[in-house]
Amino acid sequence: MGIAKRHMEHMEDQINVATEIAIEAGVLERCEYCEATVFQGEEDVEEAYKLGSHRFKNGDFGGLFESQLELTDAIKESVESGDHAADMCYHCHEKMYGDD
Ligand SMILES: [Zn+2]
Repeated sequence: MGIAKRHMEHMEDQINVATEIAIEAGVLERCEYCEATVFQGEEDVEEAYKLGSHRFKNGDFGGLFESQLELTDAIKESVESGDHAADMCYHCHEKMYGDD
């Protein structure tokens, strides 16, 4: 495996973990129906930073993040990602409320 690919996978792992933290903090929400869509939650991104910082100090990430800044960056990237920009799961919303 090339270094570039490994680097990309590492970034992906970081974003995945960051996304879980943001969901746990209520900054992002995972659709309870399809469990695939992640969208914007109620909480401010600061809440995810706080939770992440707490976890980082606990050593919960086993070296996935070299510094707390790296973790904060990953959280920011996940929360601001276009993939998570919706305020609901349109896929399930349409299935439930769409008139077809
Ligand atoms: Zn859904």
